[in-house]
Amino acid sequence: MDSYIFDLMESQDYENIFFCQEKTLGLKAIIAIHDTTLGPAAGGIRMWPYDSEAEAIQDVLRLARGMTYKCAAAGASYGGGKCVVIGDPKRDKTEARLRALGRFINRLNGLFLTGVDVGTTPDDMLVIRQETPYVVTVPQAWGGPGDGSRATAYGVVQGIRACLNEVYDSPDLQGRTIALQGIGAVGSHALKYLIEAGAIVTIADVDVDRARALASQYEASIVSTEEIHSLRVDVYCPCALGNVLNDRTITELRCKIVCGSANNQLGDSCHGDALQKRGILYAPDYIVNAGGLLSNLDSLNPGGFNEQRAMEQVSRLYSSMENIIAISKEHNIPTYQAADVLAEQRIATFRQLKSLASGNERQREN
Ligand code: NAD
Repeated sequence: MDSYIFDLMESQDYENIFFCQEKTLGLKAIIAIHDTTLGPAAGGIRMWPYDSEAEAIQDVLRLARGMTYKCAAAGASYGGGKCVVIGDPKRDKTEARLRALGRFINRLNGLFLTGVDVGTTPDDMLVIRQETPYVVTVPQAWGGPGDGSRATAYGVVQGIRACLNEVYDSPDLQGRTIALQGIGAVGSHALKYLIEAGAIVTIADVDVDRARALASQYEASIVSTEEIHSLRVDVYCPCALGNVLNDRTITELRCKIVCGSANNQLGDSCHGDALQKRGILYAPDYIVNAGGLLSNLDSLNPGGFNEQRAMEQVSRLYSSMENIIAISKEHNIPTYQAADVLAEQRIATFRQLKSLASGNERQREN
């Protein structure tokens, strides 16, 4: 028997894969549930014109596993999942297909909780919500958390403070120098937080008009996008693209800390090792950019979304980063590996608790 998919699932302990098809509407989607030890699986819906089903399967599995680690390390009581829809979001997204997807998600009865990702928007979530309550990224006007980028920026700033505390024995941002790459949704909120806390910020963005406007609003300096990573600063804060820590840029860095929101900053895991060798403290991206996720998940609490409570949750990313630094030092491993250890330790502890609880249950029954 060809066991391609089971081999893939076994390789990283996946729980379920659901294939969803609505022939008349032309919907093809895959929902992967990686691990629900900590709670129902949380993960967004990605719509992408995959070249093949195999590519879509690999992507959904990779992304679902990433969500398990992100939730676990951020201290959330949720597991990891993801949904991919095969199609071009500009051409193939229709109300009927989104609603059909909502019905599939509803069948899972809360095992999978979802929100936006590449190719989907908060407005799409409103359509999906017509069919299922298991949608978390809902606009504020509908009682949801709205745009999560402010919470993401707040979390990044907590990560920076924890790193400053490690390097300079104080989390204080007053007078600290920051090179902020990308001043889009997250970067512009980060800029505001950093300036308000007294940091000296230099920004760069390919959108030069936007950079100029924000620089004059917040009294920040501007440099070109080619040089932002190489400034002599306390913190380099990448909030634009992935793969910014690579063979070329790492040799050019002159900062003590790298901490920003951009996903997949390390070109490869060897670049995490290279940063450690250079004595640069790297805040793993999936840890410090979890603020938006934590804020979205807050809407699942009884009574719905509460901004103050959500931001309190996000502020705990400070201690997540502290824990990662402690694990990194204790085991003498780079921080990107320490982040995985933190997540795996938390899941292992809950597994132990669950098996103890079921053991006690069996004893009572006997
Ligand atoms: P965004 O598109 O709103 O902003 C990105 C900004 O980067 C834009 O202003 C763009 O002009 C600029 N940019 C693009 N290329 C650049 C370059 N080469 N140099 C400098 N600037 C460049 O995106 P965002 O929502 O702010 O997200 C930023 C990063 O954080 C992304 O990697 C995203 O995946 C990640 N992230 C975002 C969130 C969130 O809540 N929005 C959550 C987790 C992770």
